[in-house]
Amino acid sequence: MSDDNKSIQELDLICEYYGSLERQGPGSVETTLKALSFIEGLNHESKVVDLGCGTGGQTMVLAKHLQGEVIGVDMFPKFITLFNDNAHRYGLSSRVKGEVGSMDQLPFAKSSLDLIWSEGAIYNIGFKNGLTYWRSFLKKGGYVVASEISWFTEERPKEIQEFWNSAYPEIDTIPNKIAQMQQAGYVPVATFIIPVDCWTENFYYPQHEVQEVFLERYHDNEWAKEFIQSQREEEMLYNKYRDFYGYVFYIGKKM
Ligand code: SAH
Repeated sequence: MSDDNKSIQELDLICEYYGSLERQGPGSVETTLKALSFIEGLNHESKVVDLGCGTGGQTMVLAKHLQGEVIGVDMFPKFITLFNDNAHRYGLSSRVKGEVGSMDQLPFAKSSLDLIWSEGAIYNIGFKNGLTYWRSFLKKGGYVVASEISWFTEERPKEIQEFWNSAYPEIDTIPNKIAQMQQAGYVPVATFIIPVDCWTENFYYPQHEVQEVFLERYHDNEWAKEFIQSQREEEMLYNKYRDFYGYVFYIGKKM
């Protein structure tokens, strides 16, 4: 979800589209919990933030499995409203709160956070840039967990190389991303690839129905039609080239 050069109406449509989905990026309960299993030392006094939290699919999973305070940050007010409704619905609202804000202008005190989480969202400010900026907000011994699109192989077909070079030029191989994490001042603790069904069953398939509704509702809106077309193209490319790229969790510790 890149929002460069988009009008307010286009952003509203993007919000409406993704807001009607439980997740706004590929992932699953299992992968969130797997990533959480690498984090040590959390307790009821811990302060955790989820940056680019969307409507909070993964945040609620996290919050249910850890003690302490969890703050979700997202730039879209509509997502934060849905996030806070979700927290309420799960009986978590006393320690789980969503706030509108930007992940590159955090309102937290330096060295105040135990864990910074971000699934499928750090690309908005760039992986290395985000990791570097976020580090000063972590306590010594605190962790960062970010999932990021990555190449699985050193070489890949031209079609998919060109697609990602244009969509997100910072896409890189797993060893290069790990090196960037280390250069940003973390000890890389763990890395794992999320399974294919996180993309298909949990991310692309639920969009199919939303796409039909959208095309009907906005049949006279050229931009909406192009948007749906680009979503379909991305899914088609994923199915064709999923051996070459995917989302990878990177877990690092500030020493
Ligand atoms: N973590 C969620 C959402 C991923 S989609 C999930 O995995 O389901 C990426 C999210 O980043 C969107 O909700 C988008 O609104 C948010 N986002 C984009 N730029 C942002 C920024 N600068 N600051 C905070 N959130 C941002």
